[in-house]
Amino acid sequence: MATVIDLLNNDPRRMSAGSARHPEKAHRPDNPIQRKPDWIRVKAPGSPGWASTQKIVKEHGLITVCEEASCPNIGECWDKKHATFMIMGDTCTRACAFCNVKTGMPGSLDPHEPEKIADSVAKLGLHHVVITSVDRDDLADGGAEHFAKVIRAIRVRSPDTTIEVLTPDFLRKEGALEIVVAARPDVFNHNLETVASNYLTVRPGARYFHSIRLLQRVKELDPTIFTKSGIMVGLGEKRNEVLQLMDDLRSADVDFLTIGQYLQPTKKHHAVIEFITPDAFKGYETIAYTKGFFLVSATPLTRSSHHAGEDFAKLKAARLAKAGR
Ligand code: SF4
Repeated sequence: MATVIDLLNNDPRRMSAGSARHPEKAHRPDNPIQRKPDWIRVKAPGSPGWASTQKIVKEHGLITVCEEASCPNIGECWDKKHATFMIMGDTCTRACAFCNVKTGMPGSLDPHEPEKIADSVAKLGLHHVVITSVDRDDLADGGAEHFAKVIRAIRVRSPDTTIEVLTPDFLRKEGALEIVVAARPDVFNHNLETVASNYLTVRPGARYFHSIRLLQRVKELDPTIFTKSGIMVGLGEKRNEVLQLMDDLRSADVDFLTIGQYLQPTKKHHAVIEFITPDAFKGYETIAYTKGFFLVSATPLTRSSHHAGEDFAKLKAARLAKAGR
């Protein structure tokens, strides 16, 4: 049963002004948090499956983006033992206006993390796992080698599990992308997050065309890896800008596009400018398919790792169908 709850409003990660979690946002004026429309419905956490996932996560001292980003889908995903692991700590060196992950100077890498993640993947019996990370601009390779170690550790423990990485942009980290691609994840995801005109206000540490180029380069290096990218809508973007972004991703040969509604984590984060209707999401999905994506997920609660396992199976089927097999 779907339950209407306000996970974000009840989340302890919603910090007030001046909090230690987002010190760079403390001075910003408040953006009142709007009431969500009826179509934003989520399953409340607390089922036996959710509790068992939580136990494994806690026992291994793991960090998940599900919790750190206050994801509204945590009740549904964890019930199915699907969690997205966030590696390299809980502190991000960027300070995006939409993101609820803690910002600041991170600590050193945990050399045992690859084995801990691999052990958890095996215990959860995951057929498909999504690994993401905080931005580690402080590391010479942006954390690329650590990503590769995690991929290799999972391959050893769970050779049949497919692996999806959701990486930072490795801006100004020469050779980093190549290290991750050489470890051969099944899906390489890098989110554009928003349209180009929003970058200075929403994603100021990143560069739109660098992110497009990163995705294009993955395909050039290894055409067998599926590429994927996602955006949030409701951040003041224009429809035409979203369509342009689709074209930019297709020109980089990206296979899979996700589009979801932006939800404001705290009053210090970017305001929701608009709640996009389910019909408008459907319109984006239809257009994106006409532009040639293998797969499109565009709904208010779409998140880049939501239903990732099922979507991987669809991606493989779509590629085979295109090849006429
Ligand atoms: S959609 Fe992704 S981040 Fe959200 S709960 Fe599911 S796995 Fe975690």
